Amino acid sequence: MKPSGRLEPPPWASDTAVHTLFGALGAAGITARFVGGWVRDAVRGVTLTNEPDLAVDKPPETVMLALKASRIKVVPTGLKHGTVTAVIAGAPYELTTLRRDVETDGRHAVVAFTDDWLEDASRRDFTFNALYADLDGTLYDPFEGRADLAAKHVRFIGDADQRIAEDKLRILRFFRFHAWLGRPPFDAAGFMACRRNAGGLRGLSGERVRKEFLRLLDAPAPSDTVDAMREAAILDHWLPECDGAARLRALIAREDKPDPLRRFASILSREADATVIGKRLRLSTQESLRLEVMLDSDPVIDVAGGPKAWRAQIYDLGGNLYADRLLLATEAPGDWRGALAMARGWTPPELPVSGGDALKLGLKPGPKVGGLIETVERWWIDGDFTADRAACLAELERLVRAAS
Ligand code: ATP
Ligand code: MG
Repeated sequence: MKPSGRLEPPPWASDTAVHTLFGALGAAGITARFVGGWVRDAVRGVTLTNEPDLAVDKPPETVMLALKASRIKVVPTGLKHGTVTAVIAGAPYELTTLRRDVETDGRHAVVAFTDDWLEDASRRDFTFNALYADLDGTLYDPFEGRADLAAKHVRFIGDADQRIAEDKLRILRFFRFHAWLGRPPFDAAGFMACRRNAGGLRGLSGERVRKEFLRLLDAPAPSDTVDAMREAAILDHWLPECDGAARLRALIAREDKPDPLRRFASILSREADATVIGKRLRLSTQESLRLEVMLDSDPVIDVAGGPKAWRAQIYDLGGNLYADRLLLATEAPGDWRGALAMARGWTPPELPVSGGDALKLGLKPGPKVGGLIETVERWWIDGDFTADRAACLAELERLVRAAS
């Protein structure tokens, strides 16, 4: 593979951890090059994001020995696929041995290690994902990925149908990279191949689909991409509940910080079942529960009610879930900015009385105690949390007397 151009200087030029890594590999006769996200970012001249991926020209066992010899921590994160992760000063570097596909079935690949950089480049998905860079900034660009990057053109390496047949996940990656780095129109050959092969997505695992799709939703402006995917039937199998990106657009116009799961909630129909979707896409229990609250229509978020209503609902839902519901309730009129600021900045107080206080008033333990405390709590919330402990105790006493 011939060099073509140079980063001057490469953004990692004065990164001591990177020099340590290349020093250790070089001492063992291993050539390493950055590939993937870091090279794209470097070429675009933007801050390096995500975690660095490197390609290396020796088998993973050799790489592990080289790192250990230099006392660098190394984790065998995917030996079968040639991947180990070096950890330097707490930062991970994923090192993957050059590979070629021996067998593919659309889901998994059997790979063989190689020392041929062009072979490795040819099994990557998009032209700008086969950009490599040496430590000194020398670039390798076998498929004219830089031109595509500059033109914001997401283009498969080789024949799109064939590349999708090898790994169906590439359909979702096509849209993910379009959302982040592309500009309309889609590459026509790529888009049509994705549409033709959309049915093949059903064979993938929920984990892989979730990961790509949530990364897509994390892009600065993914709404048009989501609509295009829906129209091209890409989401039919994994997300039939998607009813378009109209609410996503409204959410993005409001959100203080992007949140992929909240954005995910915004593209689902109101009738969608969070538990079913959570199982299908292997969401964690916590994520599924959050999704359920985000999709709930009860309680209606009362923005117009002003600060007192905001505080009452923030107390009930917690600040984060309240903010989720508020941001998603884009049709709610009123000062939503004020409500959001309160959700982010106000810590709800704790109810100043408890069941123990009721027992001290002579009540026997039982469900009645809980009911009484709840009544006091409602009264305390209705009073906008102004009643102190003495006032709450007095109210509790009044209720106990009235009940006996
Ligand atoms: P990001 O910065 O978002 O992580 P990335 O390009 O590094 O972007 P990864 O998913 O980390 O994306 O993959 C690293 C590289 O591995 C890609 O740039 C691409 O060259 C290759 N790659 C990853 N997944 C596939 C795939 N399914 N098919 C072909 N090549 C792939
Ligand atoms: Mg990466």
